[in-house]
Amino acid sequence: MSDHYVKVKVQLEQMKSCGEDAEKEGVDAEEQLSVSSPPDSVSPDPTSISVAGRDESNTSITCKHRGKSRSKQGKDDKNSSGKHISDLSLHGSVVSAHVGKNLNGLGQERTLHIKGTGKILQGKSETNGNFVTIHASKSIQDTRREDGFKLARKRRPVTVDTSKAKTSLEALKISIKQLKWKEFPLGRRAACDIYWHGVSFHDNENIISGQVNKFPGMIEMLRKINMSRAVRTMQELFPEEYNFYPRSWILPEEYQQFSTQIRMVKENDCTVNPTFIVKPDGGSQGDGIYLIRDPSDLKLMAGSQAKQAVVQEYIQKPLLIDKLKFDIRLYVLIKSLEPLEIYIAKEGLTRFCTEPYQEPSQKNLSHVFMHLTNYSLNVHSGNFVHSDSQSTGSKRTLSSVLYRLAAKGVDIKKVWSDIIALVIKTVIAVVPELKVYYQADIPPGKPGPTCFQILGFDILLMKNLKPVLLEVNSNPSMRIEHEKEVAPGVFEYVPSPVDEEVKVGVIRDTLRLMDPGHKKPAISQPRPGGSEHREEIPIEAETQERSPDEGALPSLCLKQVYPKYTKQFNYLRLVERIAALFIRFLGVKGNMRLGPTAFRTFIRTCKLSNSNFTMASVDILYIDITRRWSGTMPDSREAATLCFSGMGLQAFVEAFFFLAGRRFKSLVLREQVVSLLELCEAQLQSQSGVEDRRSVSCSRALPRAVKTQTLGLTNPQLGSPAPLRRAVSQDYRLHQRLKPRTLRANVEN
Ligand code: ADP
Repeated sequence: MSDHYVKVKVQLEQMKSCGEDAEKEGVDAEEQLSVSSPPDSVSPDPTSISVAGRDESNTSITCKHRGKSRSKQGKDDKNSSGKHISDLSLHGSVVSAHVGKNLNGLGQERTLHIKGTGKILQGKSETNGNFVTIHASKSIQDTRREDGFKLARKRRPVTVDTSKAKTSLEALKISIKQLKWKEFPLGRRAACDIYWHGVSFHDNENIISGQVNKFPGMIEMLRKINMSRAVRTMQELFPEEYNFYPRSWILPEEYQQFSTQIRMVKENDCTVNPTFIVKPDGGSQGDGIYLIRDPSDLKLMAGSQAKQAVVQEYIQKPLLIDKLKFDIRLYVLIKSLEPLEIYIAKEGLTRFCTEPYQEPSQKNLSHVFMHLTNYSLNVHSGNFVHSDSQSTGSKRTLSSVLYRLAAKGVDIKKVWSDIIALVIKTVIAVVPELKVYYQADIPPGKPGPTCFQILGFDILLMKNLKPVLLEVNSNPSMRIEHEKEVAPGVFEYVPSPVDEEVKVGVIRDTLRLMDPGHKKPAISQPRPGGSEHREEIPIEAETQERSPDEGALPSLCLKQVYPKYTKQFNYLRLVERIAALFIRFLGVKGNMRLGPTAFRTFIRTCKLSNSNFTMASVDILYIDITRRWSGTMPDSREAATLCFSGMGLQAFVEAFFFLAGRRFKSLVLREQVVSLLELCEAQLQSQSGVEDRRSVSCSRALPRAVKTQTLGLTNPQLGSPAPLRRAVSQDYRLHQRLKPRTLRANVEN
């Protein structure tokens, strides 16, 4: 029984002891409230799942009460965990519940009317859904008067521009309707509170206020190559923590390394016969994916162009259900970048292959229905099962799968906790570059919207139950219909109950969290990278996050995991601190690349040069790195421009690692980086102290970025003597050779 019910019951018992015999009087139903089930029974969140029979209150995990569409309202009653407030009569009290919506945005009031007495119990729901205070014995007339007063101050509905929502439109419409918000399907001249984009931040240009459901740069950041690079940087710093991502190579630039390493592995042990999966960089829905067993099988060219792709270790032993391979689609909300706020949907989807799984062999490598779990592919197999049930068919809810695993004795709390860790770590890997995009599109001080985004994490469970990250989708499908062949060759979209169940909940609750009237909880934001760390996630009792005026809605299906688990993961946020330095020295608004002068300014300001590492060496380092990174660009013209336009964040991180290694030789990479960061941050802090003092005496102070930029302009010294150039170059190349980049085996099969 949830706290809420316990408290209401206690209150009713108090009333009874005051001689008010409510039991005999029946119910005065002013507004019959269908109270959502308590949060701890809705989800695959292991805080709420127990094996059938052990804990009755927690056995239902089918989430039927969430995200109901118009057509399915009636089904709510069937939900075994969904308690109705009239259930209270079972505890010997006859009352009706009335939810006074939070009209002034302060709190949700509930009144329990006791028929015939004119008396009511009045209490207030906290944002966690608990009923906390009681003012007994108010007359109904008093309350009605108050209600009328509140109505007069009714908050205007939240406005949502849905004109660019594309395929998420259906689910979005249902969500807006459930929230009683106002939709603008054709856009609106005046500003809206929320803009829902189907593809990218730029779907709607010139938004200067409100909130947009896409971050600038997210599409670029989550493309397979960029994503692999970002995770690999983290693997260099934290190999153990980031071993959830299969070993990957970037094509074409790492083709040689890939071939050499595989050849060596095979030579060392001729019984090893690994399989690899090749994924085109910009691909989705399984397009262009193929399996290989030998580097010579790579298709490297598309016409005259080298194909950009990631080749990845193939997980040969996935967990099977009904002999089929499946993967998990988990929805993750990034509510804010600064401070970082991450929510995970407690319910997700599982997508099943349609041909029984066999470990890869030369014979079955091309069997896509056996190896690829993509819905878009398997739906075309004759074996695809569309099911109205959430626990059967080729697409099922995550909770139904976890429930099944729990019934087999699997420790699903551990699985879920590992999944949460995987999600937080992945987000931490991509946030630094996202911040660079963000400041370029929405520079501080310029009017602009704030952003949030729902991401789709694709996760595979290995046979040993270890979750593996396959990819992150910046635009996960929010369709709630599926294609059906209504006549031979004729396809139509028909409603898909499983999709609707999950996706409407995710969109609706994302909107609830982004409600501009929703008070932000106070967030303590410890310094990134600092403090002790402990990765284990304590599974605590769920707190119910509920906006005060959301009386009739179910509890949130999105669970906050960050900053909630800051303590366990904050130490991983090192690259973000490097990105903060990078952004500080970018200078010009809208810029994403550091020019040579800005790089020198960084070195000077942080006092990183000395007689052993002169400014000339700094220039050579800059040229070497930017040249190498521009060589990774698909288009040589773009590469040439980039070489001149500067150093991106990933290249800067590489330079930073190099500088750290040079300065703190005796330490391991992670400690080197921490030490250099501390040194730079201390220098900047003392500089800004000096600058602040100067700017107090000189009233026309420049903005910080401009000030630091100008420091380096006095003596650019770009030309450097040839011998020195060679020395630094060699030094740097040696470092490159020693780097462990792609040499680690990440995921054991
Ligand atoms: P896409 O964006 O084209 O869907 P994914 O990276 O999601 O590309 O891969 C498509 C499918 O291939 C996944 O859903 C999964 O079934 C399978 N897959 C991808 N990577 C691996 C891997 N490393 N090991 C095993 N299976 C994989």
